[in-house]
Amino acid sequence: MRVILFGTPGVGKGTQAKILAEKYHVVHLSTGDMLRAALEAQTPLGLQAKTYMDKGELVPDAVIIGMIEQVLKSDKAKNGYLLDGFPRTVAQAEALDKILEQTAQKLDRVINLTVLEEEVVRRLSGRITCANCGAIYNKFYQPPKVEGKCDKCGSTDLRQREDDKEETVRRRLKEYHAKTEPVLAYYRAKNLVADVDANKTIEEVTKAIEALTLKRQAEPYSHG
Ligand code: AMP
Repeated sequence: MRVILFGTPGVGKGTQAKILAEKYHVVHLSTGDMLRAALEAQTPLGLQAKTYMDKGELVPDAVIIGMIEQVLKSDKAKNGYLLDGFPRTVAQAEALDKILEQTAQKLDRVINLTVLEEEVVRRLSGRITCANCGAIYNKFYQPPKVEGKCDKCGSTDLRQREDDKEETVRRRLKEYHAKTEPVLAYYRAKNLVADVDANKTIEEVTKAIEALTLKRQAEPYSHG
């Protein structure tokens, strides 16, 4: 399974990627998570990325492409992957095509998750993440069973992301429309896009994605 989960910030890409990666034993690759890990470790890459992330702007293509290329060409990615938050520009999509060509691989699907914009702001402002295991919750829709405690690992270090504050969210959505939306046209031209209505429950969205990706995998021409 080699699938891109696409859509605006807050649409549920990370939530779905975590569920599907676990179920199908493929790796979940989130460039946002990689950048946050680099920042936590205070690496030069992390510190460079921070200035952009804090403002809700995209990190430059060269930084992102260099970072993801290593992983995509490693053993970690050889059994398939779910890409979450990458590619976010047409230049990144072109770079991914080059990597796929070099590794003699093909994408199965680009799943475009769609949600109303007002809903996005609500989802992001309610989002909390476990700093220990990465589990994602939402204060309004999907709170942890015990307030302030992660259901999965028991950690009490649940945090709101800095860039989930309303003003930064608006900037991120602007970046999405200006730079990321054109990536959809790029993949539509290749007949890879399947739209999924993400205004539904997490389980319903997972089922819709599974139906589309598994169907595609069963089609002989999609392999190569
Ligand atoms: P995310 O966790 O996917 O919402 O990403 C958080 C932030 O990391 C974004 O607002 C960007 O600043 C940066 N980022 C993540 N992935 C990319 C990417 N593919 N291209 C550029 N910037 C990115």
